[in-house]
Amino acid sequence: MTRDLTGDFQTQRQAADQQPYPILKIRRDRLARLARMTKHHQLDIIRAIQTDFGQRSDVEIRIAEISAVLHAIRYARRHLWRWMRPGMASMPLRLLPARARIAPQPLGVIGVMSPWNYPWSLALMPIVDAFAAGNVAMLKPSEHTANTSALLKRLVPQYFTPEELCVVEGGVEMARRFSELPFDHLVFTGSGAVGRQVAQAAARNLTPTTLELGGKSPAMVASDVDLDQAAAAIIFGKGMNAGQTCIAPDYVLVESRHLSALVTALSNAIVQQRPNDHAVTHAINTTHQDRLDHMLQEARDHGCRIIDHGAHAPALIIDPHQELQVMREEIFGRCLPIIGVSDMAAAVSYVNARPHPLALYAFTHDKGLQQQLLRTTHSGALVFNATLLHHAVPSLPFGGVGESGMGAYHGRHGFERFSHLRGVFYQAKRTPSHMLYPPYRRWLMKL
Ligand code: NAD
Repeated sequence: MTRDLTGDFQTQRQAADQQPYPILKIRRDRLARLARMTKHHQLDIIRAIQTDFGQRSDVEIRIAEISAVLHAIRYARRHLWRWMRPGMASMPLRLLPARARIAPQPLGVIGVMSPWNYPWSLALMPIVDAFAAGNVAMLKPSEHTANTSALLKRLVPQYFTPEELCVVEGGVEMARRFSELPFDHLVFTGSGAVGRQVAQAAARNLTPTTLELGGKSPAMVASDVDLDQAAAAIIFGKGMNAGQTCIAPDYVLVESRHLSALVTALSNAIVQQRPNDHAVTHAINTTHQDRLDHMLQEARDHGCRIIDHGAHAPALIIDPHQELQVMREEIFGRCLPIIGVSDMAAAVSYVNARPHPLALYAFTHDKGLQQQLLRTTHSGALVFNATLLHHAVPSLPFGGVGESGMGAYHGRHGFERFSHLRGVFYQAKRTPSHMLYPPYRRWLMKL
């Protein structure tokens, strides 16, 4: 039997209409319940995610799925009163003594479509911001992580009414129908190909979308840095969740004269950071694993040098041809191409000749080069001398640009993303109306 999504949606629509402006206490309470749901069921969450992946590091689940959500909630609960306060807007002299304000208003019903790679945190992080902004939400988690989706489906009704938050399970057909609902805003996290279809479906309802997409995030290594430190950061970013992270470094650009030294440093970092047997993470399914195996085999067949420390470690592919699959599509796994370039200017040209990435990692302490990268490249985020850590800074907007997505959330940026920033104008009691309305004075035209 197909589920009647319209009924679920109408329930939420009515709730949003009846309570168009939940006060601070209600919003903080919803956030507290979201935190309790995550905190009280940590073992269930870990078990569900590990079953979905076959195997996944439990430390990583605690850091990237559970703590990430709890930190976001704590941050929102602490700052919410300030975000909700209407902001003052300046008034042109000729309109004084009127006053103006910017009043954030909830949008209503937010749709959230989440992916499989961080199935708990990427489902709930948009909901944290949607709740903070005073909305209700419908969630469609990924069918590829069916155990985590089923856990969400079971737990959510224990903490929320269907008017506040409801979970819709299902595959592609259900996802398609979900994207056709007339939400007040729709957040989609996933691939660019599906993102385009979601945006088209939403456009038919004039539903604004936030598209959190992916792509190939480069890491550029300049000659002024300590190669061991750069390598450690790159392998950390690639190793997390076995490379199945939207902001994982996808490939590395380095000056050719330092290429072999960097490869040695990366290889050492792989050995140092190698997880023990029970802390490894698997590819999500055999289709995905086969795709990664094919990338490696194709590179091997083309005579690329490959340094492979085993199935659960990043595999270095030295100077692959641009036509290989590993260079044509987002890797989303353990392969790590290392490409030699003549200098950093060539690295910038290489990056700029391709779609804007979600993250651009640059390893350099050279202020001039940092400034040049800020001014001459585009990316969702620009990160110097680290990988992934910007995701953990709640005051930074998180989102892509161009092919890597549109719209950003997290913290205040998420609050504003899921609010309507309403312009409010207050005319003063004693308005000199003869100065504003017809018949117009001559001097008005000179203003
Ligand atoms: P995907 O785009 O393949 O699938 C996402 C979901 O879309 C699926 O669960 C499916 O149910 C649904 N879907 C498929 N066809 C649809 C249609 N026609 N209409 C509506 N929905 C449809 O993505 P994925 O494999 O789950 O995730 C991997 C991708 O997500 C990578 O590209 C990665 O970079 C990206 N990602 C981005 C972020 C971010 O924050 N920017 C985070 C994680 C992952």
